[in-house]
This record gives sequence, C-alpha cells and structure tokens, in this order.
Amino acid sequence: MSGTSFDFELFIIGGGSGGVRAARMAAARGARVALAGFARMGGTCVNVGCIPKKLYSYAAHFGEGFADARGYGWRLPAAPTLDWEALKAARAGEISRLNGVYEGLMAGVACFNGRALLLDAHTVEITAADGSITRTSAERILIATGGTPFVPDFEGRELAITSNEIFDLPTFPRRLLVAGGGYIGCEMASIFNGLGAQVTLAYRGEQILRGFDDEIRAHIAAQMQGHGVTIRLHSDITHITRTNGGLLVQLSDGESLEADAVLSATGRRPNIDGLGLEQLGVKLSKSGAIDVDEHFQSNIPSIYAIGDVVGRKALTPVALAEAMTLVDELFGAPEGKAPRVMDYDNIPSAVFTHPPIGTVGLTEAQARAGGRAIRVYVSEFRPLLHTLTGSGERSLMKLIVDDASDRVIGLHMAGADAAEITQGFAVAMQTGATKAQFDATIGIHPSSAEEFVTMREVTRR
Ligand code: NDP
Repeated sequence: MSGTSFDFELFIIGGGSGGVRAARMAAARGARVALAGFARMGGTCVNVGCIPKKLYSYAAHFGEGFADARGYGWRLPAAPTLDWEALKAARAGEISRLNGVYEGLMAGVACFNGRALLLDAHTVEITAADGSITRTSAERILIATGGTPFVPDFEGRELAITSNEIFDLPTFPRRLLVAGGGYIGCEMASIFNGLGAQVTLAYRGEQILRGFDDEIRAHIAAQMQGHGVTIRLHSDITHITRTNGGLLVQLSDGESLEADAVLSATGRRPNIDGLGLEQLGVKLSKSGAIDVDEHFQSNIPSIYAIGDVVGRKALTPVALAEAMTLVDELFGAPEGKAPRVMDYDNIPSAVFTHPPIGTVGLTEAQARAGGRAIRVYVSEFRPLLHTLTGSGERSLMKLIVDDASDRVIGLHMAGADAAEITQGFAVAMQTGATKAQFDATIGIHPSSAEEFVTMREVTRR
C-alpha cells in the first residue's frame, strides 16, 4: 500500500510533550496526521511533572523569601501561612489553561480520545471512554506514551503515593516521607520542606542524586539538610501500616517514623501496557523501553517511538528534540535545515532542589575515566544575597577542563538560578568553548554566573 491508501500518513499515540510536538510539526509540513490520547493534553510534564513542580517550587521559595526579607529590613506582621487549597486551585487553573493551549495546537490534526491498541503494523483501534471503537490505518505509527511511576514491592505499598498524586493531596502533609534520591525525590523533598512540611528523604545508596557530579551531590545534600530536610542514607521502606494519626513507616535502617504521606519517587517505567506491542513482536529493551535505532524506528519498520517510552533521557526538551528530528527525517526539514541524527551529548539539565542544581557535560568522575588529563576549577561561596539574610546557604560552581584541548567538558552548579545560568553556558559548551574563551569573556558583576568566567586558580588536576 502506498501512503495515500492509508487513512493517515502518521498516527501518534500519546498527547504528551513528544507526541504533541510531532503531531504539530508533521501537520505543519502538510502530512495527514492523527493523535490518540486518553489523558489530559500535555502529558506528564504539563499535568503532573515539570510545570506543577516548578509552580510549587516558586511557592516554596516564598517561604524562604519571607525569612530572608527580615535581614533586609522588612518587618512581616506574623508568621505567614500557606493556604494549600488556594495553591492547588491556582495550579489547577493554570494547568487547565495549558491543556487548552495544547488542544489549540492540534488544529490540523485528527484527534481521537481513547485508548489505542495496535492491531497490526498499520492498524490502530481506539476505544473511547464510552466503549465505542474506531479503527483506522496509518502508513507510520509513532508511540509517544511516556512513562509511569514505579513503586517497589513492599508491604503496604498501596499506602504510598507517587508524583501523580502529590500535587493534589486532599490535605497538606505536615510530615512527609520521600523514598528515592533521584530528580523527583530530591525536588519534592525540597519543595514540601519549603512549603512547611517536616520532610524525611530515605535513599537506599551512599549519597543522593547518583549519576551527578560527586562534589555537587555532597554539596546539595548539605544544603538540603541546612534548609531542614532530614536525609537518611542506606535507608529504604520495608513496610507501611496505617495508624490512627497517619502512616507508620518502617525503614530498612531500623528506624520507624510516622508520616501523613509517603511519596515513592523510585523511578519511572515506560508506558507500554495495553498497546499490543507484544502480539506485534515489537522489540523491547531489558527495562521495557521500546528499542529503536537512531532514526527512532523499531524492529517493525512502520512503528516508531520517541520520548520517555524509549527511555534514553527522560526530559521534556529531549522528547521535543526527538520529535523534531523524526519529523524532519520523515517529512522533510524546513528550508535551509539539513536532517540530522539526534545528538545526546551536552544535554543540560536542572534539578529544582532548593537551591537548584544545573549541569551540562561530564562529571569529574566521567571526565577522569580512561586516564584523561583534566583541570578542575571549584568555587564554593556564600552568595551576596545571603550576606544580609543570615541563611547558611552556599553555592558551588565547578568547571572541568580537558587539558589536551582546553575545552570545558563539564560545568556544574548548585545555587540560586542554576537552571537559568546553566542554559546559557550550555550554548558555549555545545560550540566547544575552551577555558581560554571562558577567561576572555567579561563577567556580569555582581552575579553568581560571573564565577564561571573568573575561575583562574586550578583547584586540582
Ligand atoms: P530517578 O531515576 O531520577 O531516581 C530514582 C530514585 O529511586 C533513585 O534514587 C534510585 O536509587 C531509587 N530507586 C530506584 N528503584 C528503587 C527501589 N526498587 N527501591 C528503592 N529505591 C529505588 O527517577 P525519578 O522517578 O526521580 O525521575 C524519573 C525521571 O524523570 C528522571 O530520571 C528524569 O529524567 C526525569 N525528571 C526530570 C526532572 C528535571 O529535569 N528537573 C524532574 C523530575 C523528573 P539508585 O540511584 O540507587 O538507583
């Protein structure tokens, strides 16, 4: 069959960051495109991820701000209190607005509301909430169904919540236990601590944020503790029971503690259930992600996948870039732009802990691997803001430089505005900037960012 014998040239399953971007871009190139989804438009990022998380992080920063303001002469009438219902309602209003924006982006795309099942390599069956079934065919099918929280097996696991529920808890958790020391665990621990909860973070390993630069990990753990988060290392949930006052959590380190809510932030798994991939023989990786090549094509040539369901880097901007790379390849790149292969090097990311982390390039351990000669520049300091606040918060900024080429191969920061600062430096890293070029750049004074262009003394080699 040729492209015109199918109902659609591209059928996308999943209305999250990757799916929506692919649908929109393919439709803009004149392709006949359809998208099926059953949840609210925008997927994890918009509904229960990046956006509500960042809004709650802003909310939590006000708490620190009220305390910091006293050092600057502000006299606040009483201890400010958080109206949890008002925060939830404001968040829900903004998320609904964004759902509408995403729906608006689908002009030119045939949208199906329901669960999609692949019947064969070109046929999709969509079951709507009312049970009605639609069958349709497509030359190519793109799976962009994202991921779903994973909760390990332990007694009482049904009493734990995940990041899907945390934003809308009926009552504010005065005592919160967070299990997991990754992105979500650390962000939620910081945010709920900032909102006024008593937070304990239990992590099974040596130090939180495995995979990040070790110096940054130690620094952020100390900063989070300084802000009031209790971190228990080598500790994991063994069971949870309900008590009169809340939940009793038994930890593997022998401690037990009471909490109003237990957040399991122990990773996410690709969302592939009910798609019919097994019957079709779509190859999966060990972790259950759809195995695709550098063109996002699975072992079934008409079936493609992008985003968290592929499990390369579970980040919204990566899903967006994958979507655009694929659409350029399938339907032609815009004029003047050559089709490309997705580049996974130098992907910047931030962890919105308090203070936040920004990172791009290699960690010191990665840079040293294979015996490469490097120079490491580290600056640890009290930010100017806190000279008057009395806060003990400190910033850490770090550059890793390849000796042979002088290129900056790792840039890490824990401190206010880390995400904003790192984004700019990521451009320099992407263009292969050298330490000499960093040094030749004039700083902006007074700022924290200027540290990155004024580091002259090698801390270690
Ligand atoms: P992560 O993989 O980042 O962290 C999972 C954490 O849970 C790790 O500390 C891990 O420990 C621990 N863990 C895993 N399995 C178990 C288990 N069986 N028992 C106990 N602990 C366990 O996953 P998240 O859920 O935090 O986030 C998922 C992904 O979403 C991230 O990797 C990131 O890509 C993305 N994300 C990005 C954000 C951002 O850009 N700011 C924000 C939030 C999410 P160990 O290290 O020992 O394996």
